Amino acid sequence: MDTANRRPTYRLYPTPAQEQALTAQLEAHRLLYNAALEQRRAAWSRQRVTLSYADQCRDLTPLRQSEDCPLPAQAAQSTLKRVQLAFEAFFRRLKAGQTPGYPRFKSRRRFHGWTYPTHGDGWRLLPREGMQHGRVRLAGVGHVRMRGDARTLGTPKTCTIVCRHGKWYASVVIACQPVRSHGTETMAFDWGVETFATLASLEETPQPVANPRFFGASEAKLQAAYRARDRKRQCSHGWRLANRRVAQIHSTIARQRLDFHHKQAAAMIDSATVVITEQLQTANMSRRPKPKPDESTGQFLPNGAASKAGLNKAILDSAPTQFLGILRYKAAEAGVVYVEAPTRALKPSQRCHACWTVAPKPLHQRWHICACGASCGRDENSARVLLVWGVRHILSVFLATLWLRQWSQELAPGLGLQNLPREPKA
Ligand SMILES: [Zn+2]
Repeated sequence: MDTANRRPTYRLYPTPAQEQALTAQLEAHRLLYNAALEQRRAAWSRQRVTLSYADQCRDLTPLRQSEDCPLPAQAAQSTLKRVQLAFEAFFRRLKAGQTPGYPRFKSRRRFHGWTYPTHGDGWRLLPREGMQHGRVRLAGVGHVRMRGDARTLGTPKTCTIVCRHGKWYASVVIACQPVRSHGTETMAFDWGVETFATLASLEETPQPVANPRFFGASEAKLQAAYRARDRKRQCSHGWRLANRRVAQIHSTIARQRLDFHHKQAAAMIDSATVVITEQLQTANMSRRPKPKPDESTGQFLPNGAASKAGLNKAILDSAPTQFLGILRYKAAEAGVVYVEAPTRALKPSQRCHACWTVAPKPLHQRWHICACGASCGRDENSARVLLVWGVRHILSVFLATLWLRQWSQELAPGLGLQNLPREPKA
């Protein structure tokens, strides 16, 4: 694989003095962000002048010279860059006809960190052997102890310091050439809610992968934490503590899920050389059902919103988009062929894997029975459909490539087509 960027995150363990320095820097970055935002607002409202990132960087220089600005120049510029990005996003959405909110001033609760864009300027990574653990040197803070592990060794590029729930992290971008081993199976999988995935391969009988349902498992605990928080006066000391508890449970669930996704994707790539799945539109799948008005009475009929809300929770709990993202990049690392079938055209859950006829079946029907004699679980059928589709698709692409090559070598010269423009490099 070519050079790629990977972003391992190290947990930082600052001493009390270092933590004070880190907090002071976070606050300085936050004030700088708000000042830059105010400068842009004022310039426009008073003089109808649009300030650019370059203008604000220019104004930063005298500021850093006159006052005792504790921030390294590049890190301060990267905070100004964030103001620029906020405005770019705002205007892009306006143009697209959406209704975005104007970039906001950041309170302490909304401001979590800052970035050093160049290694050696304001920060230096000093890991132990294998880029494991060690220390990171930050200007104005010192050598901070860190724990973490980069899977692939490489050159550090940028570093983002983040403070979440009172813990400090360094998220480091490393330019590296990741490698990963892979297996030999041709594998298709159907993502689901009942089981997390059903794996079908040419070699073995379909296997279900259990859905761990991390959110479901912690839901009672989470509800209790919310109730405890809501009994307290908002923004009081006790309320803040209870609110932190809620945030901690949420972040635990997210980390459990991420860990599971990484391990599951790694296990699949480890045994496969081709992975076939379907395109998933999580935002569309987890949409609320439309209200059903009753024409005669003017009231609303039951539209299944409550049960759909439960299903949506389960869909978002297994987070298929995150999983597919992880699977895709691990496949690229290993050189595994990764194909996504067009779900709407193929309809894997409605189609029979044996005779290819489409017969609609409602979601509660968990068993697939067809007139052709095929009989298996619904998810198993979908996985088999994807497998058949994927093998056909890969074969047809392969044959088309062969044919094109043959055609261009034999026929094209006679037709005077050899000077056709080449396809642009991706
Ligand atoms: Zn059939």
